[in-house]
Amino acid sequence: MSRIHPVYAAMAPTIFEHMSGLARAHDAINLGQGFPDETPPPDLIEAAARALAERSNQYPPAFGVPELREEICRFYARRQALELRPDQVIVTSGATEALAATILALVKPGDEVILFQPAYDSYAPMIRRAGGQPVSVRLTPPEWPYVAEDIERAITSRTRLLILNDPLNPAGKVTSEDELAIIAGTCLRHDLVAICDEVWEDVRFDGRSHRSLLDIPDMADRVVKIGSAGKIFGLTGWKVGWICASAELVSAIGRAHQFLTFTTPPALQWAVAEGLARPDAAFAPQREHWAASRAALTTGLDRAGFVVLPSAATWFLCVDLAASGIALSDRDFSARAVIEAGVASIPVSALIEGQGPQHILRLCFAKNVAILDEAVERLATFRETLI
Ligand code: PMP
Ligand code: GLN
Repeated sequence: MSRIHPVYAAMAPTIFEHMSGLARAHDAINLGQGFPDETPPPDLIEAAARALAERSNQYPPAFGVPELREEICRFYARRQALELRPDQVIVTSGATEALAATILALVKPGDEVILFQPAYDSYAPMIRRAGGQPVSVRLTPPEWPYVAEDIERAITSRTRLLILNDPLNPAGKVTSEDELAIIAGTCLRHDLVAICDEVWEDVRFDGRSHRSLLDIPDMADRVVKIGSAGKIFGLTGWKVGWICASAELVSAIGRAHQFLTFTTPPALQWAVAEGLARPDAAFAPQREHWAASRAALTTGLDRAGFVVLPSAATWFLCVDLAASGIALSDRDFSARAVIEAGVASIPVSALIEGQGPQHILRLCFAKNVAILDEAVERLATFRETLI
């Protein structure tokens, strides 16, 4: 009999690990896993180095250094008009740990949790490991709308939570005000807690600021908002994230967090606190750099005959392979392109449980324009061999 928990027994490495491994093995341009290739913000690197040299290198408090918990509240007050107190914040080792702690603290055996598909890959396994049951609600390209009837149909007497990823990875969709109202209404009617994975909140290209479900009337006590410095500053390896919620939810989630990572390297926490405190103008160069890369990849793909789906956020663009005249499934295209074209990508169907589209490819544009141009040229040449 297997000694391994059934959730992990037949589990493969994540699609991100898998594709990055193939990219390394085939010396491919990696537009799969989401990470920027730019020089990191020098002020943050300097802040982290200074904190390592001059401040504590010992365990910080389990809920995070006070400076960072305070700056997270100020950042959200300024950017999203949220009123949060530091005792409503837990610093975590990335959003991944925030999600794990929240799910372990709130999902009880037999609970059903609504997951919108496509869904970030850690949600379902963590729900199952906690004894819960993910229940899928399918979103459909190209607009990926949240449909009230579809959500209502998925709810049973066992539904306790839903997970909303807004903006949505991989689609780059931003939840509309109407959709936020639908989701909030569902939570209120059925007494659900919403875990809001908002790691992409600050990576937007529609000129609008993020509105959290937490900000919708009557939702303050039933939303767990999760953020990540990895995305805000393009420092994915730092793994500094956080949870914001009511004091009651924070206290419960803190009990799970204290036995996962317990705490997060203090130098990185202090550096992130300094980063969040920067004036808005200090964020602009990086946002402009990402916007230029996004425009370059969109134009290049378009010229080469690839149909790019509409999006407003994240470091990703999605290509509709079928609409681009390519008969391969996203998985087949991705598996072949990394070897034959030397470009790694993510098949969106790898982030969908159950039925769903099989013809959408995700590409990360947070790279230098010259690299993106080369990737498009390689993909265009590869496409010729398919048609
Ligand atoms: N949630 C979503 C939707 C993500 O896209 C990511 C990372 N790309 C994470 C969670 C994990 O974030 P972190 O690296 O801070 O753990
Ligand atoms: N979240 C990143 C992405 O969407 C990958 C993170 C990971 O590798 N687990 O590309």
